[in-house]
Amino acid sequence: MRRQRRAKIVATVGPASSAPETLRALLAAGVDTFRLNFSHGTHEDHAKVHAAIRALEQETGCSIGILQDLQGPKIRVGTIAGGAIKVAAGDRIRFVRTGTEGTAEAIPLPHPEIFDAVMPGHELLIDDGRVRVRVTGLPGDAIEAEVLLGGTISNRKGVNLPGTILDVSPLTAKDRADLAFGLELGVDWVALSFVQKPSDVIEARRLVGDRAGLIAKIEKPSAIETIDDILRLSDGVMVARGDLGVEIPHEYVPGRQKELVRACRQAAKPVIVATQMLDSMVGAPTPTRAEASDVATAIYDGADAVMLSAESATGTYPVETVEMMDRIIRATEAHKLYRSIVQASQPGMEETPPHAVAAAAADLAESIGAPVIVAFTSSGTTATRIARKRPALPILAITPSRQTARRMNLLWGVHASLAGDVGSYEEMVERGRRVAHEEGFAAAGDLIVIVAGVPFGRAGTTNNLRVAQILPTPQA
Ligand code: PGA
Ligand code: MN
Repeated sequence: MRRQRRAKIVATVGPASSAPETLRALLAAGVDTFRLNFSHGTHEDHAKVHAAIRALEQETGCSIGILQDLQGPKIRVGTIAGGAIKVAAGDRIRFVRTGTEGTAEAIPLPHPEIFDAVMPGHELLIDDGRVRVRVTGLPGDAIEAEVLLGGTISNRKGVNLPGTILDVSPLTAKDRADLAFGLELGVDWVALSFVQKPSDVIEARRLVGDRAGLIAKIEKPSAIETIDDILRLSDGVMVARGDLGVEIPHEYVPGRQKELVRACRQAAKPVIVATQMLDSMVGAPTPTRAEASDVATAIYDGADAVMLSAESATGTYPVETVEMMDRIIRATEAHKLYRSIVQASQPGMEETPPHAVAAAAADLAESIGAPVIVAFTSSGTTATRIARKRPALPILAITPSRQTARRMNLLWGVHASLAGDVGSYEEMVERGRRVAHEEGFAAAGDLIVIVAGVPFGRAGTTNNLRVAQILPTPQA
């Protein structure tokens, strides 16, 4: 399925979208990668969706990305007597380790690691920051706090601790079971929630290996501080603005988004901008002007992908939301200022030969008027290096790996095509010509640029550039 845009769309599947015919409509409307959110749903639910998406691949002949999003160490208060308590600014409250009948003097917080790490002055944000308290003391086995922003604390509400680094594994027991299940299914990407530090990514990598790409969700201030190391260890990043916007004040989220997108472009790692992009479409057939502008901003920033959460998972208009997102992306990319804005935030060149070759391919293709850059890639690395330049023309990535083809559904500007191994250099050139022609990227007489790592099959090499002409009758 050839898209008429460079940036990709990730859509979360949920009750509103899990029926096979809805998944088919979402794919047709523009979804490149489907997200399975393991904060919700049973393994059986996810397995059904996974099978339906793979069946769509068979039906359409195109590779589709599947991203497993793990819940991570989400912190919640325990149960409260009567279900909820009201607190007001200035109130003194206490948190305790256990209990099922919480009161303002003993709110259960069944996460011992918090009691080990929290310090006076740290803040606890309850229910997405609707209630805010500051720690004033740590008497005995309790946490004493003053309410800064009053509201209701009800059963099992989430707690964010922006200023505290907790000594917790990034993978809970549930995450480990979910991960094993997802890898068994054959997901293409695994997203890790609440990454706090680089070693969290290392810990996940031990379990994932190269069976899936690993995405670090950036939703903690401490992850922003160590972003360079986190990026080096990850295969991609999600700007998870939902929790990030709880952990840091709203007014800092847009700037952090720009920094993160730029850092990912610099590192040649795909970046997804996520959460509330078209949020009002959960219940309405059109977005707000501000939401349309938010999607466009991510596109002008040069993000690889934009994501839908509740809009496609539980909303009333999942297909219409994807169509709207597709239209906003296409209109933005077609706008006369788009190229100059994206180029202005172009990262500085990496001095390594593979990056230089990839960059030269983009320059060469633009200067000879080629309609496409063809990349032969086994791991997808060559394609990411070209995409990093955000060239003005499409990147057709030919790979023998089904998994690489699926994963490339998260990469800016890359159209993946699955084809068998090539045995020789000349066969590669022939294959490049033929696929570019057959898939409608180039016409007879056009010059195309072919990029590869030679010898073939060694992941990570990008060392060869070739200009080839599409012949009047393409050779088999
Ligand atoms: P979530 O992650 O939807 O899994 O919480 C995204 C975010 O926090 O923005
Ligand atoms: Mn989150």
